[in-house]
Amino acid sequence: MSNLPRKAVVVGGGPVGCLAALSLVKMGWRVELYEGRADPRLPASKAAQAQRSINLAMSSRGIAALASVDPALADRFMDTVIPMRGRMIHDAKGRQSSQLYDTSGQCINSIDRALLNEGLLNEVAACPDVTLRFQHKLSTADYDRRELVFQTPSGTELVAFDFCIGADGSYSNVRRQMMRFVRMNFEQEYIPHEYVELRMSAAVDSGGAPAFKMDPNHLHIWPRHSFMLIALPNKDKTFTCTLFAPTTELDKLLPPFSFAARPREDAPNPEQTSKIVQWFRVHFPDALDLIGESVLVRDFWHNPRSALVCVKGTPYHYRDRVILLGDSAHAMTPFFGQGLNCGLEDVRILANIMATCGVDPRTRGGEAAGLAEKPTTIDEDAALATALRTYTETRHDDLLAISEMAFDNYMQMRHSVTRPTYLLRKAVEDV
Ligand code: FAD
Repeated sequence: MSNLPRKAVVVGGGPVGCLAALSLVKMGWRVELYEGRADPRLPASKAAQAQRSINLAMSSRGIAALASVDPALADRFMDTVIPMRGRMIHDAKGRQSSQLYDTSGQCINSIDRALLNEGLLNEVAACPDVTLRFQHKLSTADYDRRELVFQTPSGTELVAFDFCIGADGSYSNVRRQMMRFVRMNFEQEYIPHEYVELRMSAAVDSGGAPAFKMDPNHLHIWPRHSFMLIALPNKDKTFTCTLFAPTTELDKLLPPFSFAARPREDAPNPEQTSKIVQWFRVHFPDALDLIGESVLVRDFWHNPRSALVCVKGTPYHYRDRVILLGDSAHAMTPFFGQGLNCGLEDVRILANIMATCGVDPRTRGGEAAGLAEKPTTIDEDAALATALRTYTETRHDDLLAISEMAFDNYMQMRHSVTRPTYLLRKAVEDV
């Protein structure tokens, strides 16, 4: 019998896949991480990503998950965040009012999405026990035979594994392949709203240095009942603004194009330009002044209109072979700022359960080591199967609850925060 530890394959090099890889290495697995896209740290990939969402809110849930793998890792990322202590509500006349999240100072943190993902990829790349492969897109899986097939620029590649983690996002192929092996209850729902991102540049202070145009320690919200604009601060003193609106509302302003988000090649005509500016002038006059008309029209026209999809399913696992984490298991609306935080938490919770169930990949080498010799004991498989089943059984209700809260929070952010009853309740809670 070999002394090699068993081999785990992680599919998806997003933040959840990276943290899962780091967590598995810490538990003693040999890990291979496969990402479908090119390495995002390369300059060519950065240009292609320029139009993707650039920041997100990290909460104590996500920070605790990072710290569970390595406290120093969490500290490194916390050095890069901007704390947001409350919401700043902008009314239709441009007046602002602050609503603190917590009277004892707890806050959420704006973090650069690319910096988080690339930072985690750097951590993974620095691990001697992880092999990192880009441009490897999972095409098919046979979980009974413990085999995955990846599409690569030079053809297909067969990869054997002992344990597979699916962290390949909302449209997960690990999940689709799993449905051939397990009776999974599954639900996918597009909400009738889309989002478009707009950039608010930095101001220049009296000394010529860049400065924020709004208070950076708030999440800014322009709630307008059926739609809303939000803005999160970035370290370079810019804000990323996101307009969430019903598809029907956006259709009136922007001719729709394919739902496969892609930039528009053409430019708006003067009538379209004036329509966009007028709409913003009516609903978000102060944001329009801060963003500027030409930037607004440029971003609004060229940036993708992206859909918002919710995914629910159970079970998350198949035997001792595969488990879904992050958006592949539970893509949710972004209105609670908890999608990624929950995905990172999945990693922490799974690691705890595996430890409790006594999963130890170092007890023997498995088939994935490519050995002629077969394992002589099934104890490891049984322990892992128990761990994965326990994860599904104990995690599902929490994930459903947070997904529903995320959906409900859309109503709160775009509508309820403006209601007198909400403001009164908040004032009483804050006393
Ligand atoms: P992803 O980030 O989607 O990564 C999946 C990876 O798998 C990708 O790199 C992809 O290329 C790769 N992949 C896909 N298919 C394959 C394949 N077949 N083979 C190999 N690789 C593959 N969450 C928060 O916690 N806070 C926020 O403030 C927040 N704001 C958001 C704002 C918006 C507008 C949106 C849309 C979402 C927001 N979220 C937020 C949610 C958050 O973005 C997701 O929950 C998070 O990105 C999920 O991480 P992941 O690693 O599971 O998946």
